[in-house]
Amino acid sequence: MKSNNFFSLFNIISLFLISLCACNSTKEKFQENKPLNIIYIMADDHAYQAISAYESEISKLAPTPNIDRIAKEGARMDAVYCTNSICGPSRSSILTGKFSHVNGFYKNVDGGDFNGEQLTFPKVFQKNGYQTAVIGKWHLGTKPTGFDYSKVLINQGGQGTYFNPQFCINGKDTVTETKLHLTKVIENDCLDWLSNRDTTKPFMLLYQFKAPHRDWRPDSMYHDLFNNFDFPLPETFNDNYEGRIAASENMMEIGRHLNRRDMKQIPPKGLSRRDSLRWLAYGDKGQYWSPNDTLKGDALKYWKFQTYIKDYLRCVAGVDRAVGSVLDYLDENGLSENTIVVYTSDQGFYLGEHGWFDKRWMYEESFKMPFLIKNPRVIKAGTTSDAMLMNVDFAPTLLDMAGIEIPGEMQGKSFKEVFGGNQKNKRKSVYYHYYEYPIWHKVQPHYGVKTNRYKLMYFYYTMDEWELYDLKTDPNEMNNIYSDAPQDLIDSLKKELEALRKEYKDDDSLEQMRRMTDTVIKRVYNEPNKIMK
Ligand code: CA
Repeated sequence: MKSNNFFSLFNIISLFLISLCACNSTKEKFQENKPLNIIYIMADDHAYQAISAYESEISKLAPTPNIDRIAKEGARMDAVYCTNSICGPSRSSILTGKFSHVNGFYKNVDGGDFNGEQLTFPKVFQKNGYQTAVIGKWHLGTKPTGFDYSKVLINQGGQGTYFNPQFCINGKDTVTETKLHLTKVIENDCLDWLSNRDTTKPFMLLYQFKAPHRDWRPDSMYHDLFNNFDFPLPETFNDNYEGRIAASENMMEIGRHLNRRDMKQIPPKGLSRRDSLRWLAYGDKGQYWSPNDTLKGDALKYWKFQTYIKDYLRCVAGVDRAVGSVLDYLDENGLSENTIVVYTSDQGFYLGEHGWFDKRWMYEESFKMPFLIKNPRVIKAGTTSDAMLMNVDFAPTLLDMAGIEIPGEMQGKSFKEVFGGNQKNKRKSVYYHYYEYPIWHKVQPHYGVKTNRYKLMYFYYTMDEWELYDLKTDPNEMNNIYSDAPQDLIDSLKKELEALRKEYKDDDSLEQMRRMTDTVIKRVYNEPNKIMK
């Protein structure tokens, strides 16, 4: 009897212990399985050279400590590329996980509006029980779809303005914000939305700035930043484009194409509004102008660069502050553990390299996107990776990280495994195709392939020009070696390029591609108070 009682007691204790363990493991399991929230932060035209986590010379003088926190607590991705380096097309590729020619939005000018009926990653999050929102710059014409809440810029064709910006809320109500700088308005709206969200649901928020887009107008609180020193000139500032015919035809030079508005000149009094706008746009077509009678030649170009870069970086300072506020909010509200935070830009940008401002080219500064991402559950702090990725990969990756099935129609791939210790390169090459011509900036349509070491580009619209760079020996892409390179190298890169064109279904004839550039697709939506489709 005694032993029976002992065994009964033993059994009871064992069962209790087992059930206790089961409870604990269920609880842990539940927490592990708790859906991850997403905050996708995207600036407009923010070059990786202007983020101090990327350690460029310029950013050492204009650090971005808050944006850097994402890299420090998570990962800095060093080889993320834009598939068509211009605002609307990049945003469309990010949303759909598809290349420009597939999602249909391949040009900003005369490229129509984004077809919001197609599948996007916010729609997939929404269908999976997420609360979704987009706040800030949208710039795709049509009303945002797939969001429970949207407040997006609508004046200047969706471009927005740094002061007195106009927004559309949920596709219906128009509001003009007159009190604060645009970056501050977006920051406040984002914090308000986070504070008032339904806390019973996971969330997916797109937090998108106009800054530091042209015409680079910073908040007055940053006007004195960088006043006591000048920024160093990039190595390629005085590029003469030798051996690169397409580049030599550009209209985006700091010395020749920054206009009076960019340089914050004030029009003479008494001009009509039309003449005043014309006066401010002077310089766009390469017209010579100087702010006074004595500033000329190299000194004038130097002054334009300093004026440009300082205003650009002052706009970046505002974005950095606004990123910090949201990271603080997550920390203070116990959300950091369970939220993926991404920081990126819709493409790269020239900060004087090759003598340029703007983007569009497959050359490194505009092709490469900054990409920082953190979540302590998925990514080890301080990770860096040179895995080659494209903007069409963002959607599949975010869905994959959240444990949601990736729709088969997305052309990009998830790069989640890069964070699981698998640092090796998943791709051996990335693909690029740019279409818009001639406005703005007269960048010749081109497509190309980049491997770990080489970049092959083909300019096809009004010319028949190939360019080839060895990025190991010529990272600044100053020496086009296409005519001197070994034939087997050229053949293998062309083979790779053709394979990518086929894989991504971008293998139309040159004639068809030229027609895409020529086709004018009217924007349905253009200004506030017009009906949004
Ligand atoms: Ca942009």
